[in-house]
Amino acid sequence: MEIVHVSAECYPYAKAGGLADVVGTLPKYQQQLGHIAKVVIPMHRTKFLLENVWSVEHKGGFMMGDRHLEYTIIKEKTNKLDYDLFCVDIYGLLDRENIYSYDDDTERFTAFQIAVVDWLSHWEHRPDAVHVHDHHAGLIPFMMRNCFAYRHLAEVPTVLTIHNAQYQGWMSWDKSNYIPDWDSWQWGLLDWDNTINPLACAVKCADRVTTVSPSYMEELMTSANGLEQLFVQEKFKCSGILNGIDNVVWNPATDTYILDNYSLPDAAAGKQLNKKKLCKDFNLDEKLPLFVFIGRLVAEKAADLLPQAIADSISQLGNKMNFLILGSGDKRVEDQLSYLTGSYAGYYNSKIGYNEKLSHQMYAGADFILMPSRVEPCGLNQMYALRYGTIPIVRSTGGLKDTVVDFGEPEDSLNALPGQGLGLRFNYASVWDITYSIHRAVELYDDKDKMAEIRKQIMQIDNSWEKSAEKYINLYSSIQIK
Ligand code: ADP
Repeated sequence: MEIVHVSAECYPYAKAGGLADVVGTLPKYQQQLGHIAKVVIPMHRTKFLLENVWSVEHKGGFMMGDRHLEYTIIKEKTNKLDYDLFCVDIYGLLDRENIYSYDDDTERFTAFQIAVVDWLSHWEHRPDAVHVHDHHAGLIPFMMRNCFAYRHLAEVPTVLTIHNAQYQGWMSWDKSNYIPDWDSWQWGLLDWDNTINPLACAVKCADRVTTVSPSYMEELMTSANGLEQLFVQEKFKCSGILNGIDNVVWNPATDTYILDNYSLPDAAAGKQLNKKKLCKDFNLDEKLPLFVFIGRLVAEKAADLLPQAIADSISQLGNKMNFLILGSGDKRVEDQLSYLTGSYAGYYNSKIGYNEKLSHQMYAGADFILMPSRVEPCGLNQMYALRYGTIPIVRSTGGLKDTVVDFGEPEDSLNALPGQGLGLRFNYASVWDITYSIHRAVELYDDKDKMAEIRKQIMQIDNSWEKSAEKYINLYSSIQIK
């Protein structure tokens, strides 16, 4: 099969979160299964763009409202990622340093999507599936079926994968003329609650809809930032496919970012060496358990609860543990987390910002990783942590629920699904639940045999993409267009 993935991010070209990891890896595994997978993203001005060689694949133009826009599709020439990576450049709209957060994001991503469909419409053949990711590519299934110029793409199967349903790409109806001439009888497909809602539109128009974990799909039926009813309505074509991880990039035995490589037999010593270096760099105590948090400092991740949970844990237990936080996001949370460094020097530190290398060093050097998320569609951090022998402490939600069972619930662990790891689980995104779990983890840390047993078990879990990549192939094959 030939599959075209359309996304705003793709690792290592441009990454803001898990979306990039998935779009960067899934195609690699689909290629390994003997298929042709291609990825197309906006041309962000990143290091990867500047350091690689590109060829021009196609040039075209279209009207978006009353603006004529010219686009160029470029292709990475050396097949560096093991699959074809294409970028769309649109002068004045896409050649920018950041992926998101510009005032004209609506124009940028609408133009990106039109360019992709326009380019596909110029192919001499049709792909076997167009796989769109999140709302930034959500108008594509609609355009392939309802824009007069692109109707010859109407029979190409489309799949939407939702990595995060909180963001939906809302645009006001006065921008409906951005979409190339379309069948106005179909306005209802674009609309949700009197606005154009690209995510809702994709849920309605794509042939299949997936989320990145089965539990997240169930949760969307009752909590989907306004789209609950839509998911119930479209349930028949919805399913959850758990993300995998790139076992080559995320491998403690070969990871070039970490100080000391290790694998199962020498994990205790290897982790301790990495921890020692990390603790030295951040003025922490290597003899105490090290808890880390890596991620966006936003309400979805319950990052706002961390400052209080950390302060309470230290005041209740005394200096029995260390914390190291890496992340960026909400300015207020960033400030609170930075402020704590002054209060708990020697036991607490934080690094505000995005740092891929440090994240790897933290997965390797930490004892526990905290993930108190309010919403977690899949979550990759816990899977990376498992592979690096770091015990996840997670709230029981979405993909976290599907990948981690509590070590203290033997029944749960007996019923664990393949790929489910062991860790600590709690139910509520509350300061109390987090501190209680930290208490449990501190006790666990003192039981060296139990720690070693859990580490041994979690490092052997196979969360690689093979199984899930195959599930997507079966999903594309199941689509029959009437
Ligand atoms: P989301 O996509 O919701 O942010 P995921 O758990 O799916 O969350 O993916 C997060 C990915 O982003 C992981 O690879 C994690 O290591 C990485 N990450 C998040 N924040 C940072 C940061 N500040 N520095 C380095 N890596 C980060």
